[in-house]
Amino acid sequence: MSEADDSRRSFMKGAALAAGAMLAGQMLDAPEAGAATAPIDPLLHGISDLHVHADPDVRPRSTDEIALARKAQQMGYRALMLKSHDWSTHDRAYLVREAVPGLECFGGLAMNRTHGDSVNVTAAKMTLKTTGRYCRCIWMPTYQSAWDASQHGGKGIPVVDGSGKLLPEVIEVMELCGKENIIFATGHSAPAESVLMSKKAKEMGVPKFVVTHASEDIWKLTMDQAKECLANGAYLEHAYLAAIFGPGTALPKYTRTPLEEIAAMIKLSPERSFITSDLGQAMMPSPVDGMRSFITGLLALGFPQKEIDLIARTNPAKLMGLDV
Ligand SMILES: [Zn+2]
Repeated sequence: MSEADDSRRSFMKGAALAAGAMLAGQMLDAPEAGAATAPIDPLLHGISDLHVHADPDVRPRSTDEIALARKAQQMGYRALMLKSHDWSTHDRAYLVREAVPGLECFGGLAMNRTHGDSVNVTAAKMTLKTTGRYCRCIWMPTYQSAWDASQHGGKGIPVVDGSGKLLPEVIEVMELCGKENIIFATGHSAPAESVLMSKKAKEMGVPKFVVTHASEDIWKLTMDQAKECLANGAYLEHAYLAAIFGPGTALPKYTRTPLEEIAAMIKLSPERSFITSDLGQAMMPSPVDGMRSFITGLLALGFPQKEIDLIARTNPAKLMGLDV
């Protein structure tokens, strides 16, 4: 056998191995038929949505976390942060990453009754030790908050005491989030409570303090409150859900915020704002369609691309601890 034959044979062998590896790779990576050629949506390419709801959950959802992550990855998303009111999502994020490579998936914990009748410092500490370290947010109580419960005369989980001072467990969780450099989010606190927490966060030097859905009924800040929170170094989250729920939808009890009003609040400081969908509820648009409509709507209102990049790409990625 000549040297040329030998090298030709080893080249052929190498090529066959490479083709096999590519085929195996394709088969492993391809989430479903046709997905490999699905076009990336330029409107959504590189965005991150830090507020999505999906199954498994207690309330009816339109999709599950893996299917949603796969869809987001196909559209070119950079990151997703999963949110559940009742269960942790940072642990599930680890598994979603295994199932959907190429997407940065994170989660966190909302301090509702599943974790006790008060803000639970131990639960917060445990999330930070969980495999993968994908906890990026601790939300104060959401639908079981004292503020939400007060809307129908009930008693929820408080963040302040009887004299209106922040509770020690809230401050302790704030401190933990500050140390870990993850988001401390106001959840469903009353607007005045969010302002109070922003003051404390400033005093304590918490770098990632977020007012959750700052422009969404029933947690909406006034423009003056928004300015005060921003002056205290807060980030304001603006969710598309606020612009589309209300009478005639699957969430009829809420009052819709016109997109122009949301835009005006974002304009106070695009540098400290970010947009999310807060979608995933059954019978509502999907989070991906929501983000596309949100960005399209803001562009139509005259937002420059530079600001869209800040609020949909740079700021949310920074809040997740990703390089920007
Ligand atoms: Zn939500």
